[in-house]
Amino acid sequence: MPIRKLLLNSWFLKAADLLSRQQVMSYHSFFSQAQWWPREKQLSYQSDKLRNLLQVSVKEVSFYRNLYALHGIDVNLIKTVDDLHKLPIISKKDLKACYPDGCTRKTNWPVKEYFTSGSSGNPFATMVDNQTMSQARALMLLRANYSGWKQGDAVFQTGMSLQRGVVKKIKDLVFNTYYASAFDLSDARLDYYLDIIKQKNIKYLMGYPGSMFALANRAREVGLNLDISGVVTWGDNLFEHFRRCIEEQFHCRVTDTYGCGEGIQVAAQCPDGNNKYHIFMPHVIVEIVDDTGMLVPRGQLGNILLTCLEPGAMPLIRYNVGDVGRMCVVETCSCGRGYDILEKIEGRDSDIIHTPGGNKLIVHFFTGIFEYYPQIAKFRVHQSTIDELNIQIVFQPNADENILEDIRKEILEKGDKDLKINFDLLDDIAEGKNGKRRFVISDIR
Ligand SMILES: [Zn+2]
Repeated sequence: MPIRKLLLNSWFLKAADLLSRQQVMSYHSFFSQAQWWPREKQLSYQSDKLRNLLQVSVKEVSFYRNLYALHGIDVNLIKTVDDLHKLPIISKKDLKACYPDGCTRKTNWPVKEYFTSGSSGNPFATMVDNQTMSQARALMLLRANYSGWKQGDAVFQTGMSLQRGVVKKIKDLVFNTYYASAFDLSDARLDYYLDIIKQKNIKYLMGYPGSMFALANRAREVGLNLDISGVVTWGDNLFEHFRRCIEEQFHCRVTDTYGCGEGIQVAAQCPDGNNKYHIFMPHVIVEIVDDTGMLVPRGQLGNILLTCLEPGAMPLIRYNVGDVGRMCVVETCSCGRGYDILEKIEGRDSDIIHTPGGNKLIVHFFTGIFEYYPQIAKFRVHQSTIDELNIQIVFQPNADENILEDIRKEILEKGDKDLKINFDLLDDIAEGKNGKRRFVISDIR
């Protein structure tokens, strides 16, 4: 038996889970089955988990005990998911103020500290135990399944760190993964990656949308025709022109996914190709609220609140994760899965321009305008005060500067007539420090 086949054997994977004190394989099988439960069963499972989460959190975490006492809330009266809105919303700032003693608890599982960098660049720490992380990892496998990938299929994956520890190296071997840095996306490096994908006949590509786009774009430039079976993206905005380029060049569907660095895997796009995101309901509750904290109707844009149903080392209940999105108007999907549907995740709230007239300009507002101006190689919109936008522009050679007036007119007409727009012509715009490209940055949120 070849070594990989042996490693993929289910008893081996279960033993590996046991040794590393994780439960990835059993959760993967649970979530794979639970996705077909009817909606009533999803909701009643969520309500059961929610009641337990609240009991544990109030008993063992002083932050929640004090917060709910302050608001005069008896958690015994929160019986179902429909009651959740009665609880106060919490923010990164609240948790930071009492981290770690006030907002964490001891569990029977190994615990690790994770850092996420907010838009301010201020790192935010969370504690995630192995049980919660096992659920997240199981859902990473499920989201890959949505692209058609099966255990054992070779994967080319890009990421931020090439420092793969022993456990990750074994995981790479078991899951047949070729790991590449998303930092270096120079043409020479992209050619090298494309060569690996071709030589090893890899059919699945996974990583940041920006790096998948760079690969597809490079393949197009050099005229390399690859038949890929599926692409999975995460961690950043999948812009429409990214998706188009990847799908056209690699002849496959892109499965975009949504999760957060706090150990929650939230949703992944339906395998039916309708671009809707199925929410992993047994793991997380998603709510969409306006700026005053009121739930908004389905289909309307709002702030995303997450409730991780596993208490874990640091319970997150009605946690404002800092992203903006909308639920799908329709609750059911043609594929028959019972998991509720998010229409779209529009990105970080700092990626949204709030205008003096009360309009919200999402990243796609700007990409939707700029993609019709091929003379512009790169752009970045920066808002430092409510009524002023500074737009950095990198022109293609021989571009006509007069198009800037057309762009200004279009932004004022479609966005807000009271905006003041300044253009700043540059030779280049540096990528973010983590290799992610941010098109829109607002300082006022
Ligand atoms: Zn579906």
